[in-house]
Amino acid sequence: MLLEDASLKALLNTLPELDRGFADLPSFEAPLDADRLLAVLQQVAGRMHDNYPYFHPFYAGQMLKPPHPIARAAYMLATWINPNNHALDGGRASSAMEKEVTAALATLFGWKQHLGHLTSGGTVANLEALYIAGQIHPDKKIVASEQAHYTHERISGVLKLPFGKVAANSTGKMDLEDLEAQLREGNIGTVVVTLGTTGVGSVDPLADILLLQKHYDFRIHVDAAYGGYFTLAGNLTPEIRRHYAALNQVDSLVIDPHKHGLQPYGCGCVLFRDPSVGKYYNHDSPYTYFTSHELHLGEISLECSRAGAAAVALWATMQYFPLEYGGEFARDLARCRQAALDFHARLAADARFLTFYPPELDILVYAPKAPRASAISQRSQELFDRAAARNLHLALFKYPTQHLTTLWPEMEPDEPYVTCLRSVMMRPEQVDWVEAIYGILVEEVSVQ
Ligand SMILES: *Cc1c(COP(=O)(O)O)cnc(C)c1O
Repeated sequence: MLLEDASLKALLNTLPELDRGFADLPSFEAPLDADRLLAVLQQVAGRMHDNYPYFHPFYAGQMLKPPHPIARAAYMLATWINPNNHALDGGRASSAMEKEVTAALATLFGWKQHLGHLTSGGTVANLEALYIAGQIHPDKKIVASEQAHYTHERISGVLKLPFGKVAANSTGKMDLEDLEAQLREGNIGTVVVTLGTTGVGSVDPLADILLLQKHYDFRIHVDAAYGGYFTLAGNLTPEIRRHYAALNQVDSLVIDPHKHGLQPYGCGCVLFRDPSVGKYYNHDSPYTYFTSHELHLGEISLECSRAGAAAVALWATMQYFPLEYGGEFARDLARCRQAALDFHARLAADARFLTFYPPELDILVYAPKAPRASAISQRSQELFDRAAARNLHLALFKYPTQHLTTLWPEMEPDEPYVTCLRSVMMRPEQVDWVEAIYGILVEEVSVQ
């Protein structure tokens, strides 16, 4: 069997321990038709066949990482209680676990104090950060680079905050000159800095942007939804490390445990370095905050009901893999980056392919060689399909042609965007599969 079942056996062995905690209650059993359950579950298994094999090293496409078995098992174990982390009334244990993991993440980034919580994902986490930014600078602009996630522009629209784009340079990073020119014009309240863009995995020059705070008054929100955990990777270049090392000075930060933190979907995290921003969340609830004077997480978040199971799963994963420099989890992140570097190196040495800059994290962008932008786009699409027919799953990505002309000088720029291939090498085991993956691409590109 390809799919692991060790976590299921562990779950069967721990369910009685969970049960024991409630042994003083009178016994009761809710009705359950086991045959019907099994029949429906069989249908579910069948329906799930209609998916790419995200768990397999041959999935080298979008930003989709399999959760760790410990997260899967802990999440499911928690659902027998189904805690709700909105309020302590809904989940005392899982709220305490959420506070612990949030504090551990703040510590990871070198923060001595923080206010933060988990969210259902990176979008809501960024929404909360920009909501606070808007409360602090109600009429000032939010700016983010052209390569930032589209969510920032959309969220600014939802919050009715003015939004502007900063140019990205050819490496996909925020252009410092354009940023400074815009800061000089004034009226920028918050700069969104992306550590690990979703498209090419580029890292905005955070350390240099922080220096601009000496001359201009603005907040820095870091979107590290995808890239945050790479602070642990031991193989970042010194230049990229310099920007990660500056994370202890930013105002707010988003990291998605469901991206690189081995969690099932439904787990983002927002952190604020100044705990006093909690006052902007101030609200009364006639229903909720009764059982304790301690902090209910709903008092500092915009979402109400939230899966306590997500906090339990993250807590369990962080017991299994503590966030330690040089630890097992850190080594796995370094292996992901190594896989991307190895894959890039093979393609870069092969005249049949065009490559983007060497990966800064674990995303690489490449394309089959052709004389014109339009032909590259077409060949990328064809290679994507041919690889898929061999069970190798890649992703496609549109990049502005103007930013590729220096890198690919022979290309005739006959279209404004070039469709390229993109692989996010999020599975540490993929470092051992690069040769096989590259081998299929070479065979398929040759018959194109
Ligand atoms: C994935 C991602 C988001 C959006 O997060 P979701 O968890 O998908 O809602 C935002 N910013 C960046 C940089 C991302 O990679």
